[in-house]
Amino acid sequence: MPRSKQCDAQEQLSRLRAQFLKRLPVELNSLKAIAENLTKPGFDVAALNELHHRLHKLSGSCGTFGVPALGEAARILEIRLQAWLEDRSGEIDDKIRQSIVKEIGALKDVIQPTENQSDASLAMASDMPIDKTVRVWLIEDDAAFEQELVRQLESFNFEVHLFKSIRDAETAAQFERPDLLIMNVRLHRLSEQDSILLQDRITLKSLDCPLLFVSSTDDFNSRVRAARLGAEGYFVKPVDITILINRMMHILEKRRAPPQRVLIIDDDNDLAAHYQLVLAIAGMQAEVLQQPEAVITKIANFRPEIILLDLHMPNFTGLDLAGVIRQYDEWSGLPIVFLSSESDLDIQILAMGQGADDFLMKPISDAQLIAATRARIERARRLTSLITKDSLTGLLKHASIKEAADLETAQAQRNGKPVSIAMLDIDNFKLVNDTYGHTVGDNVIASLAMLLRQRLRHSDIIGRYGGEEFAAVLAECDQDDAYRLLDDIRHQFANIHFQARNQRFNCTVSIGLADSAHFPHLIGTELLTIADNALYQAKREGRNRTCIARSIE
Ligand code: GH3
Ligand code: MG
Ligand code: MG
Repeated sequence: MPRSKQCDAQEQLSRLRAQFLKRLPVELNSLKAIAENLTKPGFDVAALNELHHRLHKLSGSCGTFGVPALGEAARILEIRLQAWLEDRSGEIDDKIRQSIVKEIGALKDVIQPTENQSDASLAMASDMPIDKTVRVWLIEDDAAFEQELVRQLESFNFEVHLFKSIRDAETAAQFERPDLLIMNVRLHRLSEQDSILLQDRITLKSLDCPLLFVSSTDDFNSRVRAARLGAEGYFVKPVDITILINRMMHILEKRRAPPQRVLIIDDDNDLAAHYQLVLAIAGMQAEVLQQPEAVITKIANFRPEIILLDLHMPNFTGLDLAGVIRQYDEWSGLPIVFLSSESDLDIQILAMGQGADDFLMKPISDAQLIAATRARIERARRLTSLITKDSLTGLLKHASIKEAADLETAQAQRNGKPVSIAMLDIDNFKLVNDTYGHTVGDNVIASLAMLLRQRLRHSDIIGRYGGEEFAAVLAECDQDDAYRLLDDIRHQFANIHFQARNQRFNCTVSIGLADSAHFPHLIGTELLTIADNALYQAKREGRNRTCIARSIE
């Protein structure tokens, strides 16, 4: 085997990174030279296209090679140029031209490569840190609606910033970024002149966050304008705010999804490193298996969501490995896709019989590899979620939460860490259904679920235990902390206004808590029962309160 084949993927990535950093100053100078064409009169489409293309490449590779700040700056410029390219008239303000040229020239000041980041960046985390407050920006010109919306958003623990105009938001964006933007402005104002629309489009695109519209008019043209501005939702007044928030949660959660995990098994180290790199640039977490003998340990530790498996390898073939993987119950559903230059149909059929899910032919283009991998993982995630998650709330179902409670409690016992379990049940919920109907009742259930997701940490496990009953498993959380947190959630829930038939109403919730320190010998499902007893004590004592289990009743 030639020497280069024996280099491992990491070594190769370090080399690629060094080459990239060496070339970077030349690339930045060249970008600057092309950008200077934009200050000349007229609309230089060729220069714009070239710049756009190179900024796109730059933003992708910077993330992978450990210069994320430069990648981010390039990406924002790329988005601005995209908006410019999409504008058919090509008319663009001189000031904007000059600012783009200046910013491209300033890219060189952004380079601050982080040490040894090539490895870490392969495990690129999703955009948003999981456990932080979500920042919502609201651009608003209707004071009454604004007040109610802010109040409700704050009840759900969102951090809200108000702006009177897109221009104000643009200024603030120099210092921080929103996670989501809600616009409540009359859309005809945005369309009086195309140049205004273009400028707004550039601003909104460069904020690079999901956008929702709230409007008092519902006509096709307004909806088209909103769609052109990239809106992911359009709500007509009077808006049911809990439904708006439900949509926000869905959008944010999609963005928050962890990176897809791919395991590559190929004896051609160069090719494996190339696949790894391509998938990492696309935001996935890709690892290469070095020793086929370690395949099961690797799967157990890395938990891939798909395996890309070469068919022909020395010692063990892809068929052998697939056969071994399928012997284990817990990995029987793990998608295995063969990547091979094999054109023999019989072998393909044999591979399918051996537990392969699909066949991809080599050579495969980078774009094809990304698309095929991404689509398969998304489908697998959707399937898993259908099986384990409740459709109304997106929380774990009854059986899964019990399983999780046992797992967490056992782990906590091993590590000597506390774990607390909470049971929550909405008070007099039957009355909500009877008074306002089942749909409104569903909305109340979904709202408590959203509040729990907003307030609990990502590491906590939340499930819908029954109709209007929820369970939460709080790892590394003792009784005092659990009480403070849950009781605060109880207060917040009581503050949410629900809407039905032009009436507003509130709901309350009763909570029971049990923690492992007080019941050290109980398993998770037993703690759930104890927490349920405490919940019924809260009901008996008059509802809308939190009770702690102190003994086994
Ligand atoms: P308590 O304060 O004692 O908990 O009283 P409650 O009325 O909340 O409790 P009860 O168990 O008597 O009623 C729960 C109701 O929840 C009965 C059931 O029809 C309703 N329910 C169960 N699942 C759903 C659901 O998915 N959607 C809606 N809208 N209602 C549901
Ligand atoms: Mg109830
Ligand atoms: Mg109940």
